[in-house]
Amino acid sequence: LAEKLQNTLGKLKGKGKLNEKDVNDAMREVKLALLEADVNFKVVKQFVEKVKERAIGQEVMESLTPGQHVIKIVNEELTNLMGNVQSKINFSSRPPTVIMLVGLQGAGKTTTAGKLGGYLKKQGKKPLLVACDIYRPAAIKQLKVVGEQLGIPVFELGDQKSPVDIAREGLEKSKIDGNDVLIIDTAGRLHIDTELMDELVNIKQSIRPHEILLVIDSMTGQDAVNVAESFNSALGIDGVILTKLDGDTRGGAALSVKAVTQKPIKFAGIGEKLDELEPFYPDRIASRILGMGDILGLIEKAQANIDEKKAKELEQRIRKQQFTFEDFLEQLEQVKKLGPLNKILEMMPGMGQMKQLKDIDFDDKEIVKVQAIIQSMTRQERNDPDILNASRKKRIARGSGTSVQEVNRLLKQFEQTKKMMKKFAGMEKSFKKGRQCK
Ligand code: GDP
Ligand code: MG
Repeated sequence: LAEKLQNTLGKLKGKGKLNEKDVNDAMREVKLALLEADVNFKVVKQFVEKVKERAIGQEVMESLTPGQHVIKIVNEELTNLMGNVQSKINFSSRPPTVIMLVGLQGAGKTTTAGKLGGYLKKQGKKPLLVACDIYRPAAIKQLKVVGEQLGIPVFELGDQKSPVDIAREGLEKSKIDGNDVLIIDTAGRLHIDTELMDELVNIKQSIRPHEILLVIDSMTGQDAVNVAESFNSALGIDGVILTKLDGDTRGGAALSVKAVTQKPIKFAGIGEKLDELEPFYPDRIASRILGMGDILGLIEKAQANIDEKKAKELEQRIRKQQFTFEDFLEQLEQVKKLGPLNKILEMMPGMGQMKQLKDIDFDDKEIVKVQAIIQSMTRQERNDPDILNASRKKRIARGSGTSVQEVNRLLKQFEQTKKMMKKFAGMEKSFKKGRQCK
């Protein structure tokens, strides 16, 4: 998906100003990318129209190629669509603040009740968890285990009382015990049904929650739209918590849910553990949906610092696989301006996951040492490291105030970097194609 998108966006590079056809071509691919990310088709259609409108009318920013400019707009609009960071819980001025979690079975309500409790406890709140799922066997037990792990009290009345009664009594209990936040864990169903909705509406009317948060499994993709729509129209929700964003989901559900309900996505569940809840960051999801890594950040950083011409030359050399220690040295100078190399590489799409990155440790002291070693090499050695035998290595180590081991380590790192750049060159080919057929 990312590849496809980069292919098309790549085609736009270096073509001068955007015309309608360019944008249309690019947006066709963006559309596919979004659908592939499981964004609802209606939402996709709206989105694409909006971006087209904006892109065609607009001047291309001077420092960006047209392709980069489209990426920028697409990314901005995606982020806009999902709203700003709004992970705040609206606390009542008269505690306890009542938070009711609703959603389908397996969405992650019980887990999230615990996570949210833990999150708020860290902020100095005194939460009470209330077990209102009396249908699923062991649901009460599950919440109690969660509460125990977090040191948060759980209120339950077994499975013989009605959820409305349990919620009401839980509210009373919290007032007695001085809990300032009440988190209600409710029952789910496999599918939306009116019986469930009626029960939730009853609880709502009886205890008047300050926040009704819909818990949605981000893996459900297209279905998320129906779920969000039903819960919102029957019950009225105040926000969404998206769970299981740690999986390989593309996050399309986030976009759909936000577009359909207009309600903020407040938190994201990012793992099974009880501390794996975080504020929802729209920009991260936007990049994730497009699968592009933080391309924009990278563009901005590089633009500000790298000498364009040198970069072009280097790029040529990488492409021809003539990358030498001379280039490496020059690269290090650039890198010092940019910041840690692994950070830069991480921002590039596809590079973040590359294992080799972890093996290469470039801190600043290291860079100085590396520079010394390379500077102790002759030009011939720099261009053809294969000739480095034991005596040459010893001479270089002496000259640079390092050891033969350190020289060897650098040689290994250099090989790894070269390999990595080769891979990167392959990945980038799609970008370059556009540039060559100018
Ligand atoms: P409920 O039926 O809505 O109460 O859902 P549960 O809280 O019982 O969660 C269902 C399953 O999803 C459990 O196995 C949880 O561990 C898992 N789960 C919940 N949230 C997350 C999350 O953010 N990431 C992952 N990987 N698993 C989660
Ligand atoms: Mg549950």
